[in-house]
Amino acid sequence: MNVHESEKIAGIFVELGYSSTDKVEEADLILFNTCCIRDTAEKHILGNIGDVKCLKKANPNLIVAVVGCMTQQKGMAENLKKKFPFISVVLGTDNLSELSSAIRSIEEKNKRFIADVHDDPNVDVGCALPIHRTSGTNAWVNIMYGCNNFCTYCIVPFVRGRERSRSPKDVLAEVRSLIAQGYPEITLLGQNVDSYRYENYDFSALLQEIAQIDGKFRLRFMTSHPKDFDSKVIDVIASCPNICNNIHLPVQSGSNRVLKLMNRRYTRERYLEIIDEIRGKLPGVGITSDIMTGFPTETDEDFADTVSLMERVRFSNAFTFVYSPRKGTVAAEMEQLPAKVKQDRITELVRIQNRISSELSNVYLGKTEEILTEDVSPKHEGCVCGRTESGRLVTYPGQADLVGKFVNVKIESARSSALFGRII
Ligand code: SAH
Ligand code: SF4
Repeated sequence: MNVHESEKIAGIFVELGYSSTDKVEEADLILFNTCCIRDTAEKHILGNIGDVKCLKKANPNLIVAVVGCMTQQKGMAENLKKKFPFISVVLGTDNLSELSSAIRSIEEKNKRFIADVHDDPNVDVGCALPIHRTSGTNAWVNIMYGCNNFCTYCIVPFVRGRERSRSPKDVLAEVRSLIAQGYPEITLLGQNVDSYRYENYDFSALLQEIAQIDGKFRLRFMTSHPKDFDSKVIDVIASCPNICNNIHLPVQSGSNRVLKLMNRRYTRERYLEIIDEIRGKLPGVGITSDIMTGFPTETDEDFADTVSLMERVRFSNAFTFVYSPRKGTVAAEMEQLPAKVKQDRITELVRIQNRISSELSNVYLGKTEEILTEDVSPKHEGCVCGRTESGRLVTYPGQADLVGKFVNVKIESARSSALFGRII
């Protein structure tokens, strides 16, 4: 989500005549696109903003701007100004469209500080912004903004506002244009794609219509929410060969007690039922998840339930997070667990997931998979890398001219979760 927002921001700067530099000391403008989902992300960004102070001293004309969801927290714009007086612009996620005029005012009128953080949860978010796409072969497309779920640990509904679905007409026009530009992969984005709705048009209808656009491309989407998961989506994936057999379905916890406290509104049993249905209809599917450790009051038994769910589902990959309290959320007011308990538990989860990912690699040995070449391998000279439809990374001999092309690769070896092969 944030990567795609950075592409929109880059689009604005390209229009303003700026270009990017790798040398921060030479920059005329530094912009921080922030995230506040977890405490670690927020601390990290505050540290980075602090580091800019000396650059501003050396170059008093340097413009420092801060945007993104961190700024949407109550009182944050004023706090930032007080803590870092060298910041010139603070804008919220909902008013990126004003970035261009804010930068111009600073450049031309020498205004010192502009803060504009809207508190309107229903505002239409920058659909018409220019986008400078930087994600190589993949193009991100927002289909909805915001979230209505209020999971008790999560700050997203507070900083991103209520759920708003884009019209199918706009989404289809954007995807058609991206395919015409030659993007071989499209990923539809939303906090809860299963609750996409525009008049009587739901997510499965949108997915099907996009999949039927002419051209050779892959279609992915994220994130699905188990509470709203719609079987029709599995049927659409099964009937459209260009929709990847890859579903990201965050479970967060395997304990019904914790799921209830998290306000996730599904049970462990329902989650496993969805997994069985997906696997029954989509053999070879890659299922990934987000899992949290250390939610307030999580006991050893609750944690054991999460471990047993992981062993039962065998995710192809899992993003694991240590719970961090976010101000203003319900869970932040609950009694917190000691940091060591949270840390020990995540270490255990990472160990288990690494083992499972390794074991699953063996399933691919000897198979031939269609791979979209995404990049030159950063680790293996003379090689490129790309993904299977199920989302697994494969490295194979090849040159940069393969990037963006589909190739058939025979998988010959595996090293933990990494697969290696050759083009046939
Ligand atoms: N809308 C998606 C996820 C959005 S946030 C969903 O419902 O699954 C991405 C992930 O960040 C979440 O799945 C969750 O695992 C993690 N996360 C959110 N808030 C967190 C917090 N306060 N502490 C730790 N992890 C958190
Ligand atoms: Fe946060 Fe829950 Fe919404 Fe996901 S569904 S963004 S975790 S509130």
